Amino acid sequence: MDLVSIFRRAGRGYARAAAPGAALVLALWLAAGGFSPSGSRVGDALVLALLVAALAQRLVNRPRASLDAPPPMDTGVALLLLGGADAAVAATGGASGPFAALPLLVVALGVALADPRRTWVLAGYGALGELCLGYARDGLEDRAGSAVRVLLVLAAGAVHHGLTRAEVYRVRTHARKILAEERQRQKEAAQSFRLVSPQAPASRPSERDDESRLKSSLDAIHASTVGLLVLVRRTMHLRTCALFWADVKGRQLRLVEAATDDVELREEAIAFGVGAVGGAASMARPVVLAHLRPEYAGLTYYKGAHGVRAFAAMPILDGGSVKGVLVADRAEDHPFDADDQATLEAVALQARRLIDNERVFARLERARDDLAKLFQAARALGEARVEDQVLAAVAAASRAIVEHDLLVLATYDARAGEHRVRHAEGEGSERLRGLSFHDNAGIASAVAKTRHALPYKGQLDTRTQFVFTRELDLGGCASVLSLPLVVRDRVIGTLTLASRRRNGFTEGARQLLGVLAGNASVALANAQSVHRLEELATTDPMTGLLNKRSLETEFDQRLKASERFGRPLAVAVLDIDHFKKVNDTYGHAVGDVVIKGLGAVLVRCRRETDVIGRFGGEEFVLVCEETDGEGALQLAERVREELSRQVFQTEKGPLQVTCSLGVAEFPRHGKDRLGLFERADAALYRAKHEGRNRCCLADSPAPAGGGPRAPRKGRKAEPAAGQGMTPAR
Ligand code: GH3
Ligand code: MG
Ligand code: MG
Repeated sequence: MDLVSIFRRAGRGYARAAAPGAALVLALWLAAGGFSPSGSRVGDALVLALLVAALAQRLVNRPRASLDAPPPMDTGVALLLLGGADAAVAATGGASGPFAALPLLVVALGVALADPRRTWVLAGYGALGELCLGYARDGLEDRAGSAVRVLLVLAAGAVHHGLTRAEVYRVRTHARKILAEERQRQKEAAQSFRLVSPQAPASRPSERDDESRLKSSLDAIHASTVGLLVLVRRTMHLRTCALFWADVKGRQLRLVEAATDDVELREEAIAFGVGAVGGAASMARPVVLAHLRPEYAGLTYYKGAHGVRAFAAMPILDGGSVKGVLVADRAEDHPFDADDQATLEAVALQARRLIDNERVFARLERARDDLAKLFQAARALGEARVEDQVLAAVAAASRAIVEHDLLVLATYDARAGEHRVRHAEGEGSERLRGLSFHDNAGIASAVAKTRHALPYKGQLDTRTQFVFTRELDLGGCASVLSLPLVVRDRVIGTLTLASRRRNGFTEGARQLLGVLAGNASVALANAQSVHRLEELATTDPMTGLLNKRSLETEFDQRLKASERFGRPLAVAVLDIDHFKKVNDTYGHAVGDVVIKGLGAVLVRCRRETDVIGRFGGEEFVLVCEETDGEGALQLAERVREELSRQVFQTEKGPLQVTCSLGVAEFPRHGKDRLGLFERADAALYRAKHEGRNRCCLADSPAPAGGGPRAPRKGRKAEPAAGQGMTPAR
């Protein structure tokens, strides 16, 4: 650690310890009789100076006020003030002096203002101060007195802590209640204007966006209607012109806006059929009243006396049902004539149009949002080349479209009737990852079979239904939606979302997810095709091993790495002995089975880092990193033994074959791929020549494999007993 950081640490330690340290010193000084008339003035002055210095340090380093909330009082400062109060008590006659209650006051204040989590520090220090004062006074002789004072201090702390917390809780609960009420009111208003559908719980992830958009729609409705009402009121010399709107069920009217004198209107809902306004709504006909008396009680929208002489209420109709009522009244005894009524009717129509427009606008905005989400999803899916990218894009788009707790993407093999979970995220998804299951009575299976999104209403009853397998319980989920991924009438998978909420998937969300599933299907099918093409281009279809071209590429890469890091590398070339005879005797089909079997043997014997490829016909190549010739020879020997032990069952009885291998090492036998192949091939040739069913290392005169050592005539020598191809006994 360098000097600077030592100083820094020391500085930080001092800043933290200064206030509690000074407070502790003060308490000890009090216990020693400090600040009492008989104490040392010099000591008092020193301790006081320490107290002031610590206080100054604390005040200078106090946290900066942030915009969000003022910081609570610094607990260190509260401690020092409490220490000061104790000193004042000691200096002015102790428990019987005029300042005896000061520490109680400081504890109470500190607890109310400082960080509530540190209440115990303050109360504890207050109690310590009392003990120290008692000790200085009479060596704690008066136990009862000291105990009472300690308890009083602790009680002051506890009571204030409790009161402050309770107050905070009360204010918070109240604020929450008001907020919830306001939200509910807004929601009901939005539903009554049909800005949202009444049965649609907000189930989108962007609930907050939706809420603020809804609020701006409501604001727009209020602003435009109030403008209209003010205009009508002025031109028709009205006392009040008000617009009431019906709730979703068509049972109550609520005041939307009003232009009126300084009289007060009721905020409460007016039931259909009640009073003059409710009457117009329930009869769906205008109500016009003239020469009213002041005591007329039908104008239920006024809080107190109304003083209205003429009244008109125009129902606002939409397809035969009453959507709202436009109310106009006059203080003068000037009845609404036919002209007035016609004007009011036109105004009512205009008010309805304003609200209709806002509804259309809100829908357009929603649609625009939905389109933007789908567009984004389509773009991400279009860019996805491999399956993982498709899965990630589908998951991201689903998250944007609807809130859910679990997402599962499974591929479906219609021929085998098998579902395989390729991607699962969310609650309990660990149990689903890698799961595969066959067609069953579950929802996902039914979706794959019927090609329809299920369940019909999105409700999940886990007592009678299951989604994937019977054993897999999605207990916490109340709704689920499983969609088929279909490409050209073929189901290639299912996309399943589940949510803890009831009605988690609204009609709108279901439609959007349906479109997403369509896009996802195509992207998934494309990615699968690309994967298959890549496989075809790089692997040998018969054995699943690398083909010649990709083995050469891999070989070159590994060779380069070995060269750069100076590591050994070996290559082994394998050829089945007298394979032509297998074909001739047993037929090509059996020959193919043998080739596949050899591929499996190679996969079993190899290490993780070895590369194996089929070079063509019945010839295979192994490239072994970090392996010298001798190591590769051991591997070759293992392969040879393993193959010679294998019995292939054929129509013409069991069959066994042998193989020969040649091994070469980099850089001992060759510096490049071709050179190494040549030497390994030469070693193979030697193995064949020396009797087959053996392994030879390049340039190594002694064969490492079994079998007789009698030299054969060239590579095409006749099989010796026990090698090449033998019907198994
Ligand atoms: P040797 O012991 O000297 O290797 O004798 P061999 O008969 O195995 O000779 P060679 O390696 O030249 O044999 C190649 C034979 O392998 C020719 C062909 O009949 C057979 N063959 C090549 N490719 C395939 C294949 O894909 N399937 C089958 N069944 N046989 C193949
Ligand atoms: Mg061959
Ligand atoms: Mg051969």
